[in-house]
Amino acid sequence: MTRLSAITPSGHAHLGNYLGAIRRWAREGAPGDLYFVSDLHAMTVSYNPARLRKLARETLAVLVAAGIDPARVCVQSDLVRELGALSWVLECTCSFGEASRMTQFKQKADGQGTVRLGLLTYPVLMAADILLQNATEVPVGQDQTQHVELARSLARRFNSTFGEVFTVPRAVMAPTAARVMDLSDPTRKMSKSTQDSAGVVFLLDEPDLVRRKITRAVTDNEARLEYRPSSQPGLANVLEILAACTGRSPVEVADDHSSYGELKNAAADAVIEELRPLRTRVLELLDDPTTLDGIRAAGAERARERGAHTLASALRMAGVG
Ligand code: ATP
Ligand code: MG
Repeated sequence: MTRLSAITPSGHAHLGNYLGAIRRWAREGAPGDLYFVSDLHAMTVSYNPARLRKLARETLAVLVAAGIDPARVCVQSDLVRELGALSWVLECTCSFGEASRMTQFKQKADGQGTVRLGLLTYPVLMAADILLQNATEVPVGQDQTQHVELARSLARRFNSTFGEVFTVPRAVMAPTAARVMDLSDPTRKMSKSTQDSAGVVFLLDEPDLVRRKITRAVTDNEARLEYRPSSQPGLANVLEILAACTGRSPVEVADDHSSYGELKNAAADAVIEELRPLRTRVLELLDDPTTLDGIRAAGAERARERGAHTLASALRMAGVG
């Protein structure tokens, strides 16, 4: 079994990425799994090239620092030639209607003056990511299941038209891990691409800043220290964060504290402690280009080798290459 998961370097990785995804990847990863930094996906909207390069590197360092086996990480653009080739083959297998029906495309394109063609075809690139690595399972949230469905359709269609090449992947629902909400607006999830970062705890924020962001978290005036996500979402978010960092339940955590101030300080302490070793290790890796570049090059080589046979067969059967 091969599972494939990715994080897009559209901004600095944050506490939600860590508690909801990266920490789990580090704990649960199996030998065949692959975790990659999907920098090509970050190009579908307006971006700054130098910043993208820096963020891709930083995100790779985060994955390794979090304890994911360095043998299972890679950066997507290191395989740009292979993925570009396979994407083209798959684009020629995909209909315009199919691509334009993607809900995420419709949402992201809505209201934008200029829509990049890459925004439309990005799910096909995602199919190439999956099919090149012969992934069997793709853990995804609700918003990505449709893209994995597309990858399945394209794989089946190619296999039945040209010959059996691709492993048909399955979407598996990622276990409902903590969904961390923005500290200044608990109705929206903590996100890399949020303009205002006051409510986003980045993994590389200095401890003082982490404390400031958490102690200023928007809660409410009810002064009832209970875990009630629907009526007190801000408070529930702080409780969930503290619970996730201490391995307890939000209800237990609520019982342990008598004031909002005390709770927020405890949450700040726990997050700072949880992130401290991670942050130290990321900074060490970023300061040690030999190690990080070595991991990156080895990851690219492994992923390339793993996909070489599939790519060569797909091109040959498609009548090219
Ligand atoms: P963007 O705003 O650019 O979409 P993002 O913060 O949503 O960025 P992604 O790269 O889309 O990050 O997601 C990487 C992983 O982190 C995914 O597995 C996703 O489910 C998880 N994730 C993202 N945000 C949160 C969050 N607030 N809480 C829990 N998990 C999250
Ligand atoms: Mg996202």
